[in-house]
Amino acid sequence: MSDTPLKLFNSLTRSLETFEPVHPGEARVYTCGPTVYNYPHIGNMRAYVFADILGRTLSWKGYKLTHIINITDVGHLTDDADAGEDKMEKMAAQKAQSIWDIARHYTEAYWADVKALNIREPAKWSVATDYIDEMIEFAKSIADKHCYELESGLYFDVSTVEDYGRLARAQTDEGESRIGDVEGKRNAADFAIWRKTPAGEKRQMEWDSPWGKGAPGWHLECSVMGEKLLGFPFDIHTGGIDHREIHHPNEIAQNQAFCGCGGLDVATHSGAKIWMHNNFLVERSGKMSKSAGEFLRLQLLIDKGYHPLAYRMMCLQAHYRSELEFSWDGLEAALTRLKRIVMAVERLHAPAAPKTDHPKFAPALEKFADAMADDLNTPIALTALEDALAVKKVDAGIKRAAIERMDSVLGLDLFGLSRKDLRIRPKNAQITEEEIEAELLRRKEARMAKDFATSDAIRDELSAKGVEVMDGDPLGWEWKLG
Ligand code: AMP
Ligand code: ZN
Repeated sequence: MSDTPLKLFNSLTRSLETFEPVHPGEARVYTCGPTVYNYPHIGNMRAYVFADILGRTLSWKGYKLTHIINITDVGHLTDDADAGEDKMEKMAAQKAQSIWDIARHYTEAYWADVKALNIREPAKWSVATDYIDEMIEFAKSIADKHCYELESGLYFDVSTVEDYGRLARAQTDEGESRIGDVEGKRNAADFAIWRKTPAGEKRQMEWDSPWGKGAPGWHLECSVMGEKLLGFPFDIHTGGIDHREIHHPNEIAQNQAFCGCGGLDVATHSGAKIWMHNNFLVERSGKMSKSAGEFLRLQLLIDKGYHPLAYRMMCLQAHYRSELEFSWDGLEAALTRLKRIVMAVERLHAPAAPKTDHPKFAPALEKFADAMADDLNTPIALTALEDALAVKKVDAGIKRAAIERMDSVLGLDLFGLSRKDLRIRPKNAQITEEEIEAELLRRKEARMAKDFATSDAIRDELSAKGVEVMDGDPLGWEWKLG
């Protein structure tokens, strides 16, 4: 079923392109990872669910996948365009902790979310501070031709490469507001590739360099780790759509400088063949933020009683290039859909058959393959999965094999989940699940003995503790914690 050629949307050309690997049989993918100064919000995690779906699809297509996700523990400023403070330094000062402790804590929190969302581990988590020497070497190799030094750092002159900003479809002078207060910048969009520690100051994270003590620029990190770990050009570079505007154009400019490449009419001059960007998860009020209102972390969803894979389902229900609005109702609908699927899967008791090519499954499998090959169209692929589950009068083992194959791409862990796992269980409930089950058993016995007074009393007591008893619920919820 994996014969349909894989088409992916390349942000650089703004068009769908057939995936043709740089190295036959292989797929090398770099994903911009989190800046570990705070917990990731669920919008950030959408970027990694997307990258995971891409990786799984490439594996399913038979490519040997090498996926790198970096961990940014230095260099990312509070403003993407070179202004403000280093996010890590700022948080460390606020919390009076070492940057290394901050980085460790939030990296682990991010990994917990990765695991909870069934995102596969990449070949390597590359940590920016492990590559400082390589960053200095990279910067040295482009400094003479492409950079100039100011008091605050080494700056990249964007006029020294062709097609600067093509990815963002921006004019170089559009970045006027980006100059900030850096005096001496030649072009508005020029950016620091090395930030010097100001005289008389000491930063927690600083290294010696030919340009004095300081720290690398954020854009430099990804150029260097991409080149070191995957080699230029590699196949696919991913990130959230905000990176299309500044971070990735700057990475591309550095990559062009490093390889002595010309204009971007040849996509591989950018360092990668395809640049892919997921659209944002948004809140009704607008942009998702780590500072305003209720901080939407995955843990908050879990604390409110939702299984984290309901959020993965929510992501898959939208195409990655569409904006997705978060709502609790939407999350509950995704949970219910996941539960219906899991209930159908639970009925497939037979072991998976060795083959999936039963004619009854051909339409669903083809629809699934076409959808995934069409720029990772997960909303359609999900309906193909439901079509396959609805096929009647067919051997359960063959059905199971077909569903397993589809789930290897969607990653919903359909054979690991049970309907019970998907019950909504808020953390702050006044009653445990065991207590509820015990009370319900007592109620059942009372009803069998036709003792309706006791049965009603139990129901009322449960209701007072926030438990809604759901007799005869078609989804078999039996009870629900409100
Ligand atoms: P950061 O830790 O800020 O570097 O962001 C990690 C990843 O999340 C990047 O790929 C961002 O582009 C992406 N991202 C940030 N906000 C959102 C959002 N609301 N929805 C989807 N992706 C996002
Ligand atoms: Zn990056």
